[in-house]
Amino acid sequence: MTQKIALYPGSFDPVHYGHIDIAQRAAAIFDHLIVAVYENPKKTLLFSTQERVALLTAALAHLPNVTVCAYRGLTVKFARSQGAQVLVRGLRVISDFELEYQMALTNQQLGPDIDTICLMTRNEHAFLSASLVKEVFAAGGDVSQMAPPVVVEALLQKLGPRNANGVEVSSIML
Ligand code: ADP
Repeated sequence: MTQKIALYPGSFDPVHYGHIDIAQRAAAIFDHLIVAVYENPKKTLLFSTQERVALLTAALAHLPNVTVCAYRGLTVKFARSQGAQVLVRGLRVISDFELEYQMALTNQQLGPDIDTICLMTRNEHAFLSASLVKEVFAAGGDVSQMAPPVVVEALLQKLGPRNANGVEVSSIML
């Protein structure tokens, strides 16, 4: 029987508990889940591709049927090259829907053989985003409820100890 392989693409800058929850739930549905770090999103990144891959690999190490890699270019093309039949995305708030819908329809046109499945976030992660994790950390807040210890450590290494004067640090990340 054909293995059901799904690709979960994103920037993951950095990975947080909302992403981890979606990966866990997708890994329970599919035989194999590939979490794919998009190398050049139209966003200012805090972490390099290698760092984002390393953080995801550590954060998802407990899931035996999950692998992490990086990619460039068209997501459907990369999915096809990996033998994935499905793209997984997470949905938080209504504002996510418009973008996800547009992306799903575009990907449907580019790759009719690849379908998109959106998993609803959990209540406790509905407000969580990578930008929020970075902003709260930079402003001196506790992010241990938002992201795993490995990410908190990486933020510490990257931005230094939390400071009360977060304005300057957070403005370079937005
Ligand atoms: P993008 O792919 O738009 O750069 P991210 O890398 O932050 O965004 O997220 C990758 C995927 O994970 C997207 O589908 C996004 O909607 C989803 N996601 C992000 N945060 C959460 C969350 N708190 N709960 C559920 N899904 C989420």
